[in-house]
Amino acid sequence: PEEQFEPDPEKKTLVILGTGWGSISLLKKLDTENYNVVVVSPRNYFLFTPLLPSCTTGLIEHRSIMEPIRNILRHKKATVKFYEAEATKIDYEKRVVSISDDSEIKGDISHTEVPFDMLVIGVGAENATFGIKGVREHSCFLKEVGDAQNIRKRIMDCVETAMFKDQTPEEVKRLLHMVVVGGGPTGVEFAGELQDFFNDDLKKWIPEIKDNFHVTLVEALPNVLPMFSKQLIDYTESTFKEEEISIRAKTMVKNVTDKYIQAEVTKPDGSKEIETIPYGLLVWATGNAVRPVVRDLMNQLPAQKNSRRGLAVNEYLVVNGADNVWAVGDCAISNYAPTAQVAGQEGAFLGRLFNTMAKTEAIEKELKSLSDAQSQAKSDDDRNQVFDEIRERQRQLRRTKQIGPFQYSHQGSLAYIGKERAVADISWLSGNIASGGTMTYLFWRSAYLSMCFSTRNRFLVAFDWIKAKLFGRDVSRE
Ligand code: FAD
Ligand code: NAD
Repeated sequence: PEEQFEPDPEKKTLVILGTGWGSISLLKKLDTENYNVVVVSPRNYFLFTPLLPSCTTGLIEHRSIMEPIRNILRHKKATVKFYEAEATKIDYEKRVVSISDDSEIKGDISHTEVPFDMLVIGVGAENATFGIKGVREHSCFLKEVGDAQNIRKRIMDCVETAMFKDQTPEEVKRLLHMVVVGGGPTGVEFAGELQDFFNDDLKKWIPEIKDNFHVTLVEALPNVLPMFSKQLIDYTESTFKEEEISIRAKTMVKNVTDKYIQAEVTKPDGSKEIETIPYGLLVWATGNAVRPVVRDLMNQLPAQKNSRRGLAVNEYLVVNGADNVWAVGDCAISNYAPTAQVAGQEGAFLGRLFNTMAKTEAIEKELKSLSDAQSQAKSDDDRNQVFDEIRERQRQLRRTKQIGPFQYSHQGSLAYIGKERAVADISWLSGNIASGGTMTYLFWRSAYLSMCFSTRNRFLVAFDWIKAKLFGRDVSRE
């Protein structure tokens, strides 16, 4: 039978914002019996982002990499309340979060407040646009399921529109020019997946587009994938050359219109020139920006005055200048890159920390009642017995309190670059392994498969891979 959620007045209320890598890893580790746990997120599922680029071409169906939060919560020991809503404001002084149901269907109440004793902020980041005109209106991002679906639809729309009767040759060229801005891992992986789609399926099914379909990756810096070693950057760039993906390095986009982008190109002699590049599909992947709800909290806390890119946290992930408020993942600024790996480890750390805090509190309570019993003991024997119990509890307390600060353990960086090749910078034992190629690709596939959230996800992803191998990707435009 469904349990009713009645907050226990004896327990603290722990509110967790977000259902991404940070928050879900925390929930997985958390012993929910110790707190009244409330989760708030506009997304009622966890998304395995590393495979999202594959959803843009239909290689993987998006539902294969989603795990419903309801399924995660029903396996927890104590009831956890979930509200599908966006946190619109965190009032630090009043210790409440304002939440709003922004989904299509609304009840009589769609805005309310949730009070908290403890708060974990794991809302991730939004897409950076640097205020460049036209980006929001004309380009696609690649962060959420909806973004991948949108891209998938638009690729086919560009292709079919290019095939429209009497389309001019210049317009065909423009419509089939797929431009990706940002040479970080998101941009690189998407460009690779798109070129694969063309080589494996599109080219065969619609041979007329063969001479005009073209993928261009635009990057402001001198090279792509700055977080990888020089050797792997070179490997990626040479693979892209073989695949016929153009890399336009030292090219910074300054303006976006519905049909072309304008970029400042730095020439080999150092001179700069503005170039106009027509496009059919534009995918914008220039990294992260702070969400408004996080920015607003930063403005409430004087200790966050100098933070720019997110909430500054201490080594226990406590938000600087705030009491009983923690931040994990892309919205927190620690010493590490904003990756799933970091967010996942931070969430798991907080899970362990909160379990320990609850245990510590329970032992402290017991100690208090034992010392009361000791003072009321009638005989020396009774007193000695209580004394032994106190010693035992104190030992337990020392053991549980021994949780050190958060330490990140880097397992390595992996990225798919197309043509059944991947690059990997992996630190195993003491050595650093840098590798690229087909074996790395097989490793990439098996690593990601094993990292999927559930057996169901693993099965679905493997099935999608097999399906695409046997029948090709589905080119129908939904
Ligand atoms: P997210 O996972 O983004 O989760 C944020 C959560 O907060 C979401 O559930 C969201 O709905 C919710 N939310 C948003 N706003 C609010 C609000 N106002 N109130 C409440 N909830 C809110 N990293 C790797 O390490 N390896 C990879 O291979 C990799 N591949 C990637 C591929 C792509 C296409 C992308 C976009 C990212 C990739 N990353 C990868 C980066 C990784 O996904 C992020 O670093 C990670 O998701 C951060 O986790 P998070 O919990 O901070 O945020
Ligand atoms: P990123 O910040 O890593 O890269 C963005 C790139 O865009 C930068 O190289 C920047 O120079 C470029 N850029 C910015 N403005 C530009 C402009 N106006 N014109 C041209 N280029 C411009 O962003 P990302 O790729 O979205 O990644 C975000 C985070 O997610 C990173 O921490 C990354 O490591 C992580 N991630 C990891 C993987 C993986 O490990 N396989 C995959 C995707 C994302």
